[in-house]
Amino acid sequence: MSKLDHLAGEIKSCQLCILSQGRANAVPGEGPEDADIMFIGEGPGFHEDRQGRPFVGAAGNYLEELLGKIDLSRQEVYITNVVKCRPPGNRDPQPAEIEACRPYLDQQIDTIRPRLIVTLGRFSMQRYFPGASISRIHGQPKRVGNVIYYPMFHPAAALHQPRWRNLLEEDILKIPDLLAKLDDIEEAEPEIPQAEQLSLF
Ligand code: URA
Repeated sequence: MSKLDHLAGEIKSCQLCILSQGRANAVPGEGPEDADIMFIGEGPGFHEDRQGRPFVGAAGNYLEELLGKIDLSRQEVYITNVVKCRPPGNRDPQPAEIEACRPYLDQQIDTIRPRLIVTLGRFSMQRYFPGASISRIHGQPKRVGNVIYYPMFHPAAALHQPRWRNLLEEDILKIPDLLAKLDDIEEAEPEIPQAEQLSLF
């Protein structure tokens, strides 16, 4: 059994927070164990809870459409959330719930070791850009070592706010250049410990 499958088993039987009590299914995440790109959303919604899979509702359809713009399919990237069980009525996840779920996301990241982590929405952004405002920093990559953290609006938010759609689409189109730039950086400077803003755009 792969490490991710083992972890998914743990997540499915997790009772570390109150969200476990209302779930039909936990939603660990899905994608290749060696994915270069990891997308981190907020938490499962109604359809995700029903199916046990991330981003399978309207926001998921839109995420797939966005991936198509850079010639990627959802099978090529890893997709997960900060909390693995649906918050009741799709409310925001609480800090204690995000904290309880944190070790699962940490282990997913340690296992997959993605080169690019794309945060979708405020809650995953907070992990890497604490205190930041998404409308100010979306589309601005930050590199730490050989990993790029890239904040984007949540696709569901853009579905509700058409003016964010263009921004989300502009931001996704930057991803291929970011990955190419990371290749250059790795060649020139294999280990760079401090965080820095990439001056790409
Ligand atoms: N929204 C999220 O943040 N995650 C999902 O899996 C689905 C919708």
